[in-house]
Amino acid sequence: MKVLVAVKRVVDYNVKVRAKADGSDVDLNNVKMAINPFCEIAVEEAVRLKEKGVATEVVVVSIGGKTCQEQIRTALALGADRGIQVEVEGNAEPLVVAKLLKGVVEKEEPQLVILGKQSIDGDNNQTGQMLGALTGMGQGTFASEVVVDGDKVNVTREIDGGLQTVALTLPAIVTTDLRLNEPRYASLPNIMKAKKKPLDVLTPADLGVEVKSHITLLKVEPPAERSAGIKVADVDQLVDKLKNEAKVI
Ligand code: AMP
Repeated sequence: MKVLVAVKRVVDYNVKVRAKADGSDVDLNNVKMAINPFCEIAVEEAVRLKEKGVATEVVVVSIGGKTCQEQIRTALALGADRGIQVEVEGNAEPLVVAKLLKGVVEKEEPQLVILGKQSIDGDNNQTGQMLGALTGMGQGTFASEVVVDGDKVNVTREIDGGLQTVALTLPAIVTTDLRLNEPRYASLPNIMKAKKKPLDVLTPADLGVEVKSHITLLKVEPPAERSAGIKVADVDQLVDKLKNEAKVI
């Protein structure tokens, strides 16, 4: 069974994101970039399926400029077999990404496509669902457990106040939630081996997709600064301030 995993290059989750001075976008100058954490979980799940003998090949795909090849190489070091970069300038919006992924799905014919539930830069939470709609494949979103069973995949989903398990007929789409697994670290020998693994570059034209943007970013703003706290002398003063200044009790 072939598994296709979509990985996105985003600002590393440890970095405190800054807006550009003119508010036109996020400042990416000299900022550490990484695989989107939910995509890392997707790669880990696919590699575990391969280690269990369920998957035969794990292909990773990333859509973006040449720099996203770094994240493809990281996924290859984590255990994926082969990479595909779809060359697109700038940060493609979810509908464009989903259309390009549909093109890759048609070309590669995977039995399972695993995506993150969300990219931490745009917080869109749209691509997996759009890919489901465009391909007509069943989707199990927010997965906390994935069990392939013959021609079906059982996906346990994290929903409000509990868990729901659905069975999807393969080929299917899964989007990962945080508790699905704990991704491994890439070892140095695997980082070296990853440099030799195949990485193909495709253009949107190769996939028959016209990249057309429907969204214009108007502005980005940092969250409001928190005002400084104060020290109170005793409980009476604390209660007084909560009652009369903060008016919360
Ligand atoms: P989003 O809908 O943007 O929150 O992204 C959800 C998931 O879609 C991500 O975790 C990735 O698996 C996939 N995805 C989004 N953008 C890209 C991209 N440019 N390249 C590859 N995969 C992507």
